Amino acid sequence: MRIAVCIGCGCDDHHTCELGPFADIPCRWLRVSRPKRLGVCTCCHGLDFRNQAQLRPDVEFSALRFAELLEPVYGDRDEGLLWYERRHHSLNGKTPRELVATGNIRRVRQAVNRMLDEVFL
Ligand SMILES: [Zn+2]
Ligand SMILES: [Zn+2]
Repeated sequence: MRIAVCIGCGCDDHHTCELGPFADIPCRWLRVSRPKRLGVCTCCHGLDFRNQAQLRPDVEFSALRFAELLEPVYGDRDEGLLWYERRHHSLNGKTPRELVATGNIRRVRQAVNRMLDEVFL
């Protein structure tokens, strides 16, 4: 099976988002294209329906999704939104926004997951 990546948040078949009051419900695919290796997960149901239909990234939507994911790191969403616009060493000097726009959202999600791992150690 080809691994698919969510166009909204960069989660994939092996690294899902956690939902529910106890963060115990993994997200699932609302829509997935194995040939394209892209999908939309249940956490990203708010994506514009045209983007969902065409599996096209939406940098503004993803800004909000990553700010939400980073809330445990920063304590609020504003810092997460700033993080999205800054260049990072761990992303080869690119901004998360650039990577999302160019189809590299998975790298952004990996960086976010590393930051979350440090918080929950
Ligand atoms: Zn998603
Ligand atoms: Zn997900």
